Amino acid sequence: MKDTLKHQGLRNKLVEILKGKGIKNREVLNAIGKIPRHLFMDSGFLDHAYQDKAFPIAADQTISQPYTVAFQTELLQINKGDTVLEIGTGSGYQTAVLLELGAKVYSIERQQELFKRTSKFLPKLGYNAKKLIFGDGYIGYAEAAPYHGIIVTAGAPKIPSDLLAQLAIGGRLVIPVGDTTQVMTLIIRKSEQEFEKHEFGEFRFVPLLENKN
Ligand code: SAH
Repeated sequence: MKDTLKHQGLRNKLVEILKGKGIKNREVLNAIGKIPRHLFMDSGFLDHAYQDKAFPIAADQTISQPYTVAFQTELLQINKGDTVLEIGTGSGYQTAVLLELGAKVYSIERQQELFKRTSKFLPKLGYNAKKLIFGDGYIGYAEAAPYHGIIVTAGAPKIPSDLLAQLAIGGRLVIPVGDTTQVMTLIIRKSEQEFEKHEFGEFRFVPLLENKN
């Protein structure tokens, strides 16, 4: 596992690209400038790690495009010490971004292979989530609720009601909603009963799958 000056140079360029695409949050940009994304990908893709593109990881899944990671994280508006739930741990890259922002992170993955790999890998880089969970993100993780932020990193055909229930008052849920393409959706919980909805542009994610296999 190597991180070199060359990688740092490529990361600095990636940060400039993201700024050019409209990402403004300094802490989000700093996190992307710091995290060695190439180590989250198979070695065959090393050269691609700092392009603003999604790439395949194990189990037919993808590591999200850096712009998408930045966009979703910016919408979450995380403060240090916030409790955040991520659905779709995947490579752990988004998890690392959340940890760099000082969040207490819970993250759920339904693919056992990815869950095992990422559970071993993240601590090696010094990224310690509160808990990585092998399970179904549709039902969230009630044990650690309520959350200041919930981020879904797979395309959801609908908004899971369990996730709404696990949001703190004032909390934010960032979720791509749709079947083939998804509309980035931000839900803010205004009160026990009231939820405010904001919609952003179209994105494309691997699907949030309901039942294991
Ligand atoms: N955040 C990841 C993105 C991975 S792609 C990263 O930065 O690499 C989306 C992930 O969601 C995949 O790993 C997929 O297995 C997972 N996923 C799909 N449906 C799920 C569900 N119902 N519960 C938990 N994880 C799910």
